[in-house]
Amino acid sequence: MKYDTVVIGAGITGMTCAYQLTRAKKNILVLESKDRVGGQMHTVKEGDFLFEEGPSTSIVKYPEVAELFEQLGDSCQLEVACESSKRRLIWKGDRFHELPSGLFSAIRTPLFNWCDKIRILMEPWRKKGNNPNESVGELAQRRLGKSYVDYAVDPFMSGVYAGDPYKLPTRLALPKLYNLEQEYGSFIRGSIAKAKLPKTERDKKATKKLFSVKGGFVQLITALEKAIGSDHFVTSASGVRVMPSGKDWSIAYSVNGEQHTIEASQVVTTCGAYALPDVLPFIDSAKMADISNLFYAPVVQVGVGLADCGGNVWKAFGALVPSKEKKDVLGILFPSACFVGRSPEAGASMSFFMGGVRHQDMLEYSDEELTRIVSGHLADMLGYPAGKKPDAIRIFRHKHAIPQYEVSSDARFKAIDEVQRQYPALRIAGNLRGGIGMGDRIKQAFDEAGYLLNLKND
Ligand SMILES: Cc1cc2nc3c(=O)[nH]c(=O)nc-3n(C[C@H](O)[C@H](O)[C@H](O)COP(=O)(O)OP(=O)(O)OC[C@H]3O[C@@H](n4cnc5c(N)ncnc54)[C@H](O)[C@@H]3O)c2cc1C
Repeated sequence: MKYDTVVIGAGITGMTCAYQLTRAKKNILVLESKDRVGGQMHTVKEGDFLFEEGPSTSIVKYPEVAELFEQLGDSCQLEVACESSKRRLIWKGDRFHELPSGLFSAIRTPLFNWCDKIRILMEPWRKKGNNPNESVGELAQRRLGKSYVDYAVDPFMSGVYAGDPYKLPTRLALPKLYNLEQEYGSFIRGSIAKAKLPKTERDKKATKKLFSVKGGFVQLITALEKAIGSDHFVTSASGVRVMPSGKDWSIAYSVNGEQHTIEASQVVTTCGAYALPDVLPFIDSAKMADISNLFYAPVVQVGVGLADCGGNVWKAFGALVPSKEKKDVLGILFPSACFVGRSPEAGASMSFFMGGVRHQDMLEYSDEELTRIVSGHLADMLGYPAGKKPDAIRIFRHKHAIPQYEVSSDARFKAIDEVQRQYPALRIAGNLRGGIGMGDRIKQAFDEAGYLLNLKND
């Protein structure tokens, strides 16, 4: 069989890329090692509760996100989060406090000390940094103060990267923030200047709104699978191995022990960096070592359903726990407070996040241990009666959850560029470059499909 493009990995990156190529009438095949499509994006229904196994929400960060939903039409409906999603909570001492959203709440909040509250007023005049590898923690401490790092930046980085703000260079982990300082000399001045920049009609599609999908993200995956055509997917494909073959590619894999070899003009990989040495064995070992040298923080996600909250409903997007507070959870999300149909009316669905770079051992905790931790925090953090048991519980363990864009990323990006220059019809995509969020994944998939559609194969 000869395909125009073979896509390796059926997560949101691979499926969005395959969909864009399908729309352009290309003959594609998606090879996926698991027995289902969707990758990290997966929704599970447990009685009256809906739990997300991976991403719970995203923001319409790029026009491409809005355009994907426009293309899919009625087959999948984007659901914008309700008002309560604007509330973010941070644990300090013995309770959650609201993250300030305006001047008055910023003055009153007990999260930051007075010295830093006054210090932030001077942020626009603080000197620009000159260390390209300055970590997010160091940069924020220099510009905003230590209490902002401890009670805003650290929990934010736990929530997004499950990572340590002092280990991730801002340039790589939060490039937009880094550029604000580099281009405008200040976060505040840069944000104001950026907000004033003229926007095209297309730019305006990036509303920055928080969204999910009606019925959970599985509906997006199902809509993509249907639009691409289920006969264009091979699941449970093991031992996927790509080799150059003249000016084309030869791709070998097996399903249930049966060997297959196919040909394609183009190949896109979207699997994690850890899978690439086996998938692309022809790349020289030093270069491949640079590409696959990427640590993924492990995350344990526990979906908890309460059938009746007894009036104690947490109306917020989520609650984060700074590492300074030495708790065994990174944070808790409240999806039923933001989206409809996630729990019974009087109840709630929640997601507890644990592990991350600081508590990697939690991946090995037993179901009983994790259930005990979560049940304990229902009482001591969320105020439910002691001994209240979840009415539904689902535990998801992600060994390779979130890639950490550390300083070694420079060598990875360089090696990927070199390989792609040598083999223009091979694209090494996925969350090993281009951002870790769902919006980044969708944008990258559009970009890769655009590149391949413009590529002259001879
Ligand atoms: C617990 C958790 C919570 C998250 N929460 C959010 C959130 O709230 N908002 C947000 O924007 N992002 C979130 N993310 C990140 C988001 O889920 C990812 O950015 C996105 O889903 C990654 O998509 P992907 O297609 O690049 O990778 P994946 O979804 O990992 O897909 C890669 C696919 O490749 C397959 N594969 C691997 N090896 C091979 C091989 N050898 N052969 C064939 N196939 C292979 C895998 O099985 C997988 O299906 C979260 C991630 C996790 C883990």
